[in-house]
Amino acid sequence: MSQQTAITPTRAQDFPEWYQQVIKGADMAENSEVRGCMVIKPWGYAIWELIQKDLDQRFKDTGHTNAYFPLLIPISYLEKEAEHAEGFATECAVVTHHRLEAQKDEATGKTHMIPTGELTEPFVIRPTSETVIGAAFARWTSSYRDLPLKINQWCNVMRWEMRPRIFLRTAEFLWQEGHTAHETREEAIEETLTMHKVYEEFQRDVLAIPTIPGEKTEAERFPGAEQTYTVEAMVQDRKAIQAGTSHFLGQNFSKSQNICFAGRDNTQQFAWTSSWGVSTRMIGALIMMHSDDDGLVCPPCVAPQQVVIIPVTPKEDTRQAVLDHCEELARTLRAKTFHGQPLRVLVDRRDLGGGAKKWEWIKKGVPVRLEIGPRDLEKGSVCFQRRDQAPNEKTFLPETELADTITDILQNIQDTLLNKAVAFRDAHIRPASTLRELEENFSGEGDADWLQVPWDGSPEEEEELAKRLRISIRCIPLGELGHGDPAPCILTGRLTERRVLWARSY
Ligand code: AMP
Repeated sequence: MSQQTAITPTRAQDFPEWYQQVIKGADMAENSEVRGCMVIKPWGYAIWELIQKDLDQRFKDTGHTNAYFPLLIPISYLEKEAEHAEGFATECAVVTHHRLEAQKDEATGKTHMIPTGELTEPFVIRPTSETVIGAAFARWTSSYRDLPLKINQWCNVMRWEMRPRIFLRTAEFLWQEGHTAHETREEAIEETLTMHKVYEEFQRDVLAIPTIPGEKTEAERFPGAEQTYTVEAMVQDRKAIQAGTSHFLGQNFSKSQNICFAGRDNTQQFAWTSSWGVSTRMIGALIMMHSDDDGLVCPPCVAPQQVVIIPVTPKEDTRQAVLDHCEELARTLRAKTFHGQPLRVLVDRRDLGGGAKKWEWIKKGVPVRLEIGPRDLEKGSVCFQRRDQAPNEKTFLPETELADTITDILQNIQDTLLNKAVAFRDAHIRPASTLRELEENFSGEGDADWLQVPWDGSPEEEEELAKRLRISIRCIPLGELGHGDPAPCILTGRLTERRVLWARSY
């Protein structure tokens, strides 16, 4: 018997459409009239703010400071680093005019605004800021004493994406971009790996997203980087999401941007740079990772409201007492802390039916719902429901016990989501040793496991295979997953110890 779900279609029926409907049901965001751009609504933006707040502290704890750089990049800046410019060339939005002029169409009577005032040098809307920040670093660096420079910027960027998908791949997105310059190669590599680790830990501990950390192959590297590190998440349809990247840029940008300094030995040297970024894509990953057929499931650490109290007020004469009691409980709970922050607790006092309220908060993914009515008041109990359990599963708890255990309950929900995601991921990564297995695994349209295979192909061979099977090498994992006894590469047959992960991706 099929059960009624709050979201249609279900995940099993149509995963991509389910994803859109979860976002709509939770009132998180909507597509704007400009293709590929989105309106992030308060519930979605609150999640972003919580992400920002936590990450920002991690960046500061690792010695970075925030700054802001211009949105517009002179094309000449991009021309300096050819590989970088080529990598982004097909995705750049370019500002060519600086004025609009009203022109009336006599036939229709309509007024049209026509761009005029052509710029002699057009500007690119930043797709990323290595070039602008590099130019600033060049001005700020003259001696080894000026290094390291460790800067972060929170901003929006534009990449003209041809196949946009809300949160996951948009033309304009919000992100942070870290940019650093160092005296030595080793320091810059250490920085790149440190931030890679920060991303992995943040996603695991805050978003309950277990990722596979690894290095990108040459074919998948960031344009202009010597090494790109990535954290790859497996969502419920087993597709991969590149959830964050850190790049070791060598001296490529410092040479093109002239970021140089007098070293300890008084010789002129070029700095070693890194960059790293995560974006609103993480919200898409979070939705696809945890949500169910009733809507969003939000890990407590980033839930805009962690506890919602729904007053049950059937009779006018007990109404005020119930409301007062709910507010008092909310105050008690707000005095508790979870991960260093006061609990986020809301009393839903709206003039709406209890059922409508309950389903709204289910669809928004609130971790804990409490219902309190006149009889609970008498008994000193609350009706308690968890978002990671079935919608009609209820527990009645003495109120004092609830107050004493709420933070443990929230942590338990956070852990349950992570453990479930880890188990799912580990059940769907398997080793394979032949091209045939790869072809079979990725032949149908259904969900496909990630395959861990011996790989020693060239970038061209990788691209050819990726295109043919519509898959990609997600990474060469950093841990055990990335190594094995010498075995023949599935394509070239050459013996290799290296293992890579092939998967479908968003
Ligand atoms: P990159 O500068 O290309 O390394 O990008 C840094 C991170 O931003 C990536 O790892 C993605 O998680 C994210 N990202 C890249 N392109 C997009 C996009 N079009 N929409 C949303 N997030 C993106």
